[in-house]
Amino acid sequence: MKIYLDNAATTPMDPDVYEAMLPILKEGFGNPSSTHSYGRKIKSHIELARKNVAQHLNCSTGELFFTSGGTEADNMAIRCAVRDLGVKHIITSKIEHHAVGNTINKLEKKGKVHVSYVRIDNKGHIDLVHLDELLNRHPNSLVSLMHANNEIGNLLPIEEVSMICKKHSAFFHSDTVQTIAHYDFDMTQMDQIHFMACSAHKFHGPKGIGFLYVNKNINIDPLIHGGSQERNMRGGTENVYGIVGLSKAMDVSLNNLMEHKKHILDLKTHMIYRLNKSIPGVSYNGDSDNLSASLYTVLSVSLPPTEIASMLLFNMDIMGIACSGGSACTSGANTGSHVLFGLKALSDRPTIRFSFSKMNTIGEIDFAVDSLVKLYS
Ligand code: PLP
Repeated sequence: MKIYLDNAATTPMDPDVYEAMLPILKEGFGNPSSTHSYGRKIKSHIELARKNVAQHLNCSTGELFFTSGGTEADNMAIRCAVRDLGVKHIITSKIEHHAVGNTINKLEKKGKVHVSYVRIDNKGHIDLVHLDELLNRHPNSLVSLMHANNEIGNLLPIEEVSMICKKHSAFFHSDTVQTIAHYDFDMTQMDQIHFMACSAHKFHGPKGIGFLYVNKNINIDPLIHGGSQERNMRGGTENVYGIVGLSKAMDVSLNNLMEHKKHILDLKTHMIYRLNKSIPGVSYNGDSDNLSASLYTVLSVSLPPTEIASMLLFNMDIMGIACSGGSACTSGANTGSHVLFGLKALSDRPTIRFSFSKMNTIGEIDFAVDSLVKLYS
């Protein structure tokens, strides 16, 4: 039996997405910039996809720029805001994804910006009063706060944050990589958000494709210079297969959102119930077990200390269960999770992050919990 419970790292591609990409992979080899029929035909697929994504987010097509994924979208938002919008100060948190955290660190080291870190409480939630205070001292800053944390699942009250930013004329970027296509977005109601990042492989789409949403009132220059693709905003021949896949993956996710969400919430609730019953002393990092304050796809489990702590993930893998110790981007590195460190939750208690998708079953959750219980007995 092989069970995949690492869906915050990446998701398996939906068969409908694969089917939508197949004709383009087989025959759609034209370069979208070519003026002949091969080029024109393939270019129309890009623009149809952009229109479809814009309809899902209720924004205009002019606000969407396809990128190679979430990391590039985050880099584009932050670097271009500093370079083109006169941003000299960034307010962020210690628990952002490395795509954001390391980009901001680099800019700070190069002397391009000063950085303030907003306080987080012991559950990992952003202190909004402190954010307001920081913005009082540093108006016109760029605020970069993620919508949902990929390791512990905490959700940001994104609309409240956007209103605080508006009050201080600050720019607001949110890394929405874990939430786009998992929640409904209506950009006409959220027009105080200036930048949002998306990545298709987090919602059963292909890897290497995403987009940056840039609010229509914002004017930036490209991050990647080259040809005139993406209306002169991102040079490079477009990843048409990926763009078509992203658009289809959004359809599949958002057209069945309530059904998928209910199924995944049932899985998460069942896992919490089973773990609480079977492992004395189990707890949860951040606000992971609070169903209304956390991402429904993520459960970060804090386990009682054990001599086999360093072997837990390895043993789970041997038993057929793929899960993670922190974010996928830190696995392989010898350092502990910067998120747990930011929460001051690093201890001798091992952490396992389980993350779910519509493709998981209650039987798989039972098998994963039973396997973990065996390792603890
Ligand atoms: N931001 C968050 C919150 C993520 O979880 C990830 C992926 O792990 C990224 C950004 C990076 O996205 P991508 O893998 O498309 O570069």
